[in-house]
Amino acid sequence: MRFEIITLFPEVVDHLRVGLLAKALDKEAVEVEALNPREFTHDKHRSVDDSPYGGGSGMVLSPVPMGAALQHLDAKREGPSHKVLLTPQGTRFDQSMAERFASLDALTLICGRYEGFDERIRGMVDEEVSLGDFVLLGGETAATTIIEATARLLPGVLGNAHSAVEESHSTGLLEHPQYTRPATYEGQEVPAVLLSGNHALIARWRRKEALRRTFYRRPDMLATATLTDEDRKLLAELEEERA
Ligand code: SAM
Repeated sequence: MRFEIITLFPEVVDHLRVGLLAKALDKEAVEVEALNPREFTHDKHRSVDDSPYGGGSGMVLSPVPMGAALQHLDAKREGPSHKVLLTPQGTRFDQSMAERFASLDALTLICGRYEGFDERIRGMVDEEVSLGDFVLLGGETAATTIIEATARLLPGVLGNAHSAVEESHSTGLLEHPQYTRPATYEGQEVPAVLLSGNHALIARWRRKEALRRTFYRRPDMLATATLTDEDRKLLAELEEERA
């Protein structure tokens, strides 16, 4: 999959060159290109922004270099790309959006800075996406977060494809607790069932603990999770336990 980032700080891609993503980039399972809209300016100061019409503080990113950067990428790439504007006004990014993006051939992420974008830039994109209800200095950390969450779902990126299937949010529940050696640490024992070697019992325990964790930490997720009759029975028990 190809990721493109339009940013005034193309060095952000360096943050992606670590761990499994660095390996995925090396073996070309993932491709990332960062493009600076300043390359498409023609004035002495290479300006990408200007003061807002109507007055007010801060600077607004001009549609001219942004439009030219998008056209440059479109001409260079073989197929189309899904274009995303990063903005606190967009739809909130989540795991299901990462899954949707992972089915694309190319994703272009447009990072703002300063006071944000000239409104006409919104007309150049397919979708507006926010990382959450807070305001960042720029879209770069949102872009690298989205790339990381999306790329790890692609074939050949994670060592163990199973880890992306069972973890928090991909199942509609938070993940069950995990343990590794030693079996006893400062008097705290690993649950005996995990040492039993009984895979059916371990699977049941994990489901139950995932439900428990979701029930206490993120009860809102239970409204949309796919639940079995046994899950519902356990949730009723948890309700009683809490009452
Ligand atoms: N004045 C803008 C507004 O109220 O919507 C915010 C501008 S912000 C200081 C500069 C840039 O950071 C934005 O254009 C956007 O690209 C990025 N940004 C800030 N918060 C973000 C968020 N929560 N999600 C995604 N991008 C964000």
